[in-house]
Amino acid sequence: MDQTQHAYFEGKIVPFGDAKISIATHGLNYGTAAFGGLRGYWNAGQKKLFVFRPLDHFKRFLHSAKVLAMDLPHTPESLTKITMELLKVDGWQQDVYVRPLCYKADAGIGVRLHDLRDEVSIFATPFGAYGKNEDGAHVTISSWRRIDDNVIPARGKISGAYANSALIKTDAIRAGFDEALVLDQNGHISEGTAMNVFMVRDGVLITPPVYDNILEGITRRTILELAKNELGLPVLERSIDRTETFVCDELFLTGTAAQVTVITKVDYRAVGNGKIGPITASLRDLFNEVVHGKVEKYNHWNAAVE
Ligand code: PMP
Repeated sequence: MDQTQHAYFEGKIVPFGDAKISIATHGLNYGTAAFGGLRGYWNAGQKKLFVFRPLDHFKRFLHSAKVLAMDLPHTPESLTKITMELLKVDGWQQDVYVRPLCYKADAGIGVRLHDLRDEVSIFATPFGAYGKNEDGAHVTISSWRRIDDNVIPARGKISGAYANSALIKTDAIRAGFDEALVLDQNGHISEGTAMNVFMVRDGVLITPPVYDNILEGITRRTILELAKNELGLPVLERSIDRTETFVCDELFLTGTAAQVTVITKVDYRAVGNGKIGPITASLRDLFNEVVHGKVEKYNHWNAAVE
């Protein structure tokens, strides 16, 4: 992490260095924590920092908490307000990533979800590109399988579940790829390590449905809406087979960190003609305009820090 000034910790905004937990913390030992990830985009023209879809992010965050049997005294609105205050205190004038975390805060031994204290923390840090080759990623199909809803639900952004993503990512990177797509227990493409996946076949935009063990991405939802409303594209949420990624016309990843990341090769096979496709290019441009608060119609998605 580069730098960060303050954090929300145990109910207060404190200097970042004061936000410390014990090594015996339940969430750290057992992965009984859940997180979110939002971006703040600096609009240099308007000199404003816009946080993208905070209410939607915090709604999902509270859903993740619910999966972990947490009953947090927060709403999407209260968490958005805290985030805005935190960002204001540090006066960021650059793109940032915001990381809310909820965790089982008691120190001690004993794996469970109940009868434990829950806490929420939030910090922000400067953030640019996430991946190395966002204009042309080479992905592999991982030999690992995605965690199943009946194992650890991918629908929740549960910290412990990210050991699955970490296994997938490290093997992909060490084998020379930029990222990996992972199959679920039924053999369908679920998603990347921290991003959803879309493919274009014959002019139709297709993404796996929420019941194929994916995180219900806010960027995914955004892209589906923009594709339908602005490009008039037919969109389909249906299972995707492994070899469809070899024969499709366009393929890309979406996520708060990854934004719209273009995939140009899958296991040494070129996607389409091996270059960014026209639908991916249009959606990426539109997404960039929207998140920077430059498209009036979607400005309700951008919360300005002021
Ligand atoms: N899938 C996984 C596993 C993720 O961690 C993320 C990142 N939050 C996404 C998809 C994309 O979700 P979002 O667009 O809400 O960032």
